[in-house]
Amino acid sequence: MARLFCLFILTGLMPSRGVAQKTSDRLTCVRIQYVLALKRYVAQRYWPSFDRKPLYQELHIRTPGYLYVANPSRTTLAQPQVVPCRCEGVPLVRKASTDSAFVMATGFTSNLVVDVSDAEAATRFIPGQETTEEWAVIVVHELMHQYQGTFGKGILRRLLKTISVVSQDSLGAIFRNYDTLSRSVRRENQLLLGALAAPNSQQTRDSLTIYLRLKRAHRAYMRERIGKSFDELEDVHEILESGTRLVEYHLSKDLKQVTPFQPLVGFDPLYSSNQVEAIRQFSLETQGQYLWNVSPKYGYAIGFNSIRLLEKLGISYQDRIYARRRFSFEREFQRWIRAH
Ligand SMILES: [Zn+2]
Repeated sequence: MARLFCLFILTGLMPSRGVAQKTSDRLTCVRIQYVLALKRYVAQRYWPSFDRKPLYQELHIRTPGYLYVANPSRTTLAQPQVVPCRCEGVPLVRKASTDSAFVMATGFTSNLVVDVSDAEAATRFIPGQETTEEWAVIVVHELMHQYQGTFGKGILRRLLKTISVVSQDSLGAIFRNYDTLSRSVRRENQLLLGALAAPNSQQTRDSLTIYLRLKRAHRAYMRERIGKSFDELEDVHEILESGTRLVEYHLSKDLKQVTPFQPLVGFDPLYSSNQVEAIRQFSLETQGQYLWNVSPKYGYAIGFNSIRLLEKLGISYQDRIYARRRFSFEREFQRWIRAH
């Protein structure tokens, strides 16, 4: 299965927890119910169409010994080794599995499966992660990708077309290898942050105008030096990760005030009832810096800052961002500049 962008895959041996099968079934079921409750919470407040369905395709949860499949397809159900699990409101099955790779990813090219390791694995493999809540936020991020994949004639088609020409991993490598590009992208990100902080339209327009000029220049530089256009891959990456990061941000920010999920309280040893410091003290300036700071996968930060800027400028986008084939933040900003 081809996987994209928000990808962690590490291979390691997962120690068997010796958890009784029924406890494993119950814990996985309640965690999925919790993830779907968080998804509904964030969708209702920030992106209503995201919750048009609880799950758009399968959600796989890897645990030591089992692969759990929520919302199983007919193909999955027809497999002889599949065992149904009781889980209120969630069709759930499991099958024996010894796969020990750590994964948090969404398949775009085959079937939109969200494939994630369990919360215990996340605490071992992701630095700073301690709780089921933080794991669930990542799963909701992946479910947002699954939702994006339902736009088969829009963003999904754009993605598949562009990665047939340029590798989806190429931007990170280019960022690392070309100082001119990485310097420009860091400056562009600062200009977006400047536009976000600008107190008036004049200063917003000034920052955005320079931003667009630098972006055009770095794209011309990439075409010249590498001999290919990366414009569409940059646009697609920004679009895909802007929405997922926005959802991730709102959830991380709001968790401290979300009512604890009672079925997990006293049952899930990794569930803190939103009480760990990373949740109680979350802010963009502290734990949230990763959301807006540039890394080699710069589409994340550029996308997150761009989508926040659309909101600040009062530009509606949710009915177009995935559905339209020509949507780009660049065009949205150009149009805004012309009108102001
Ligand atoms: Zn992602």
